[in-house]
Amino acid sequence: MRVLVIEDEKRIANFIERGLKEEAYVVDVASNGVDGLFQATNVTYDLIVLDLMLPDLNGIDICREVRRAKVNTPILILTARDSVQDKVRGLDSGADDYLTKPFSFDEFLARVRALLRKNRAVKTTTLRIGDIELDQLTRKVKRGDTEIHLANKEYALLEYLMLHANQVVTRTMISEHVWHEDFDSLTNIFDVYIHRLRKKLNEGFDDQLIQSVRGVGYVLQG
Ligand code: CA
Repeated sequence: MRVLVIEDEKRIANFIERGLKEEAYVVDVASNGVDGLFQATNVTYDLIVLDLMLPDLNGIDICREVRRAKVNTPILILTARDSVQDKVRGLDSGADDYLTKPFSFDEFLARVRALLRKNRAVKTTTLRIGDIELDQLTRKVKRGDTEIHLANKEYALLEYLMLHANQVVTRTMISEHVWHEDFDSLTNIFDVYIHRLRKKLNEGFDDQLIQSVRGVGYVLQG
């Protein structure tokens, strides 16, 4: 999951970035409105966190512009004041939710998760594909009754494959939503992680859940 954070206050931007990275999200930070608007409309994100008080552009205007550009990514706005008017204007300009500063990271994270499952048919924190179960809250993964322990990136990779089950997930999609680094330098890393993930998922089972699509990417069959 890739998140854009548009926030000029370094302390808050760092707090969010560090916390999200620990939860295996990919995070980009824009420290002003112009950069933020450019990134929001030119890069595909799963979620945008938008501070309303920025030094150059107004967060409300950014929100409107993003929606005008037909970007439907969920937007969580951050407001400094507990002003009803700010929240109303934010939601009316196309934001999906708001949070008033200061906030606890736990609440922030709960809202992030809620927004990320907004467009899913089943709004639970548990993903199930075949006999694999992934709990987005506890980050526990099971296949049948067997618990599978995954490292951060392995978890993020599996979560992404499960959210796109029965579709071909390309290397580009993975590089954009699961990794931060450049795609070219990652070709081998993907294979290593897919290999490890397969090994962990298949221990004691016969069938191969993650199929390779030669030259394109992978598909998790449900
Ligand atoms: Ca600010």
